[in-house]
Amino acid sequence: MKVGIVGAGMVGSAAGYALALTGTVSRVVLVDLDAALARAQAEDIAHAVPFASSTVIEHGDYPALAGASVVILAAGVGQKPGETRLALLARNAAVFREVTARVLEHAPDAILLVASNPVDVMTQITTRLTGLPPERVIGSGTILDTARFRSLLGRHLGISPRSVHAYVLGEHGDSEVLAWSSARAGSAPLASFAAQVGAPITGHVRDAIDDGVRNAAYTIIAGKGATWYGIGAGLSRIVRAIAQDQNAVLSVSIATQDVLGVRDVALSLPRIVGAAGVTAHLMPDLADDEAAALMKSAQLLKDTADAVCL
Ligand code: NAD
Repeated sequence: MKVGIVGAGMVGSAAGYALALTGTVSRVVLVDLDAALARAQAEDIAHAVPFASSTVIEHGDYPALAGASVVILAAGVGQKPGETRLALLARNAAVFREVTARVLEHAPDAILLVASNPVDVMTQITTRLTGLPPERVIGSGTILDTARFRSLLGRHLGISPRSVHAYVLGEHGDSEVLAWSSARAGSAPLASFAAQVGAPITGHVRDAIDDGVRNAAYTIIAGKGATWYGIGAGLSRIVRAIAQDQNAVLSVSIATQDVLGVRDVALSLPRIVGAAGVTAHLMPDLADDEAAALMKSAQLLKDTADAVCL
């Protein structure tokens, strides 16, 4: 399978690197406004390939995306001094209007995988701009936040994060909701597992994990300016679900008809991801406070997306 990546900065190149090391797909093409950057990233990643897989890494302009089954959109413009969040969003929407038109001109059947922030709003905007069915416009959403949640829970319980089944829902951002009440470790409810291994989830533990998940990006940005490895691996995970038609349950964002009464909003829920994109979503059993927080997150995202002039 061929995957295109538009935006070969830190996130796009990390996704390309993760795809190459895992050998998930046969071919990856990097495209960027800065052609020299796309070329350099492709060559650098290509030199890692002999150690790991047979994936072909290329760079090019939009025509090189022909035949791509998935195109990752990781292009972004930075905030100008004094610029409001909505003005930045409008500029990003303008970038996406141009980028998606050019992508679909050459790869009309591709599934679009949106990484650019604010990812939920950008996913909603991309769905509106392209007119594609929502199942073909997937935002990485809380795939990374869910990984962070599982990682911290696994560390606390002394088990692999892969044995933790827990999701972060709603916005990839401040209003996200950690679904504690539906979390499980192995086959046991979280509290039961935690008690059995002598690592109870006290209020203090819960607050520390909540803070660690919610503020992870801020902490990383304070130390190195941006985040890229986690999201790169998360994007590669989503592509693998599509490439191998896994019907994997992943927390990703798509425009959704109704989320607890909020209509037409893009946010993350556990969703089934396979070759056709997202085929279904699941609403976990939520405690009342979690449901209220998810509804609030949905309303906030909807209001923001609706305020962007397209
Ligand atoms: P970056 O600045 O390193 O890369 C962005 C790239 O986009 C640049 O190389 C730039 O030349 C390119 N670009 C800009 N306009 C373009 C256009 N019209 N056509 C083609 N390419 C264009 O930024 P980054 O750190 O890679 O972040 C990219 C985006 O990903 C940002 O919006 C960032 O906020 C977001 N991000 C998302 C997550 C997530 O969890 N979804 C995590 C981290 C970062």
